[in-house]
Amino acid sequence: MSEVLNIEKIGQIRGNVISEISKLRSKDEISNLRIKYLGRKGIVSKLLRSIHEIPIDQRKIFGQKLNILKEELELLFEEKSNEGFNEFDQFNKEKSLQDISLPGRKGIIGNLHPTSKVVREICKAFTPMGFQIVEGPEIELDKYNFELLNIPKDHPSRDMFDTFWVDWKNDKDEYPLLMRTHTSPMQARVMEGSIPPIRVLVPGKVFRYEATDASHEWHFFQVEGLAVDKGITFADLKGTVYEFARAIFGSERKIRFRCDYFPFVEPGVDVSIDCFICEGGGCRVCSKTGWIEIMGAGMVHPKVLSSVGYDPEIYSGFAFGMGVERIAMLKYGIEDIRLFYSNDLRFLKQF
Ligand SMILES: [Zn+2]
Repeated sequence: MSEVLNIEKIGQIRGNVISEISKLRSKDEISNLRIKYLGRKGIVSKLLRSIHEIPIDQRKIFGQKLNILKEELELLFEEKSNEGFNEFDQFNKEKSLQDISLPGRKGIIGNLHPTSKVVREICKAFTPMGFQIVEGPEIELDKYNFELLNIPKDHPSRDMFDTFWVDWKNDKDEYPLLMRTHTSPMQARVMEGSIPPIRVLVPGKVFRYEATDASHEWHFFQVEGLAVDKGITFADLKGTVYEFARAIFGSERKIRFRCDYFPFVEPGVDVSIDCFICEGGGCRVCSKTGWIEIMGAGMVHPKVLSSVGYDPEIYSGFAFGMGVERIAMLKYGIEDIRLFYSNDLRFLKQF
């Protein structure tokens, strides 16, 4: 017994524990080491139990030293347990439960919404031609959505736009706020705040109070374009739209202009491309006509130019607007516009 119980032995035990405890990497390992020394059959516990075997005059001093050692070790184990263990330690601890040879599970990565994708493609087609991207408010003033665009109050052309009005009256007892029905208000806003030359592209969400069906949504995206400068002609509009059509629908595309009416342009046209599916022969997508309408366009109406303070004798410009979902539907062969905003992952994951 004397070999077991001496002062040096106590010091040795302390040294061993301090060295072993520094290597521990998990709470389980701490617990095991604690049991080894302080458990019922642990080294220190055994020594305490065998204290009666040493000479009576030495018992007190050994007893005290062993108790001090026991308390000290308890404290060391507690401190170590309170230390955080990093992910690597955690991994080591759990590795017995894991089979790291199994193939990893792929995280879910989202993708761009088809509308965002097409908006980006459209912007990419126009920016090399010097168009700058600007955005405007979705809640708009009547002034910008209609009046400055040559659509005065009570003008029949307002019927073209099924408008959501905002339930707020001004002191003239008017409802001047609305959910913008097109991105064209930015034409007036941009012109008001700048001096030509202007070349801007306005992507954004618009709203119409109308029943939904396969080709109508109550909200959708438009991209508006505007160029104003001295000497801008219809040929500039034609060239710009042609470049766009070829960038989006293929380098072989032809375009066609037909007269159309939009209050803020004169003359106004609808722009079609030759059907890229049947190459003009006639199919379901082009309704057997060989042509697909892609946008409305025209030369900025002189009244619009003068309403923002430009002299229509000096400046001229062209504007165009297109529905983004319509372009996406043509590009990807989507048959129902409602699919875009029904949040169905089966649809969205395809892009
Ligand atoms: Zn066709």
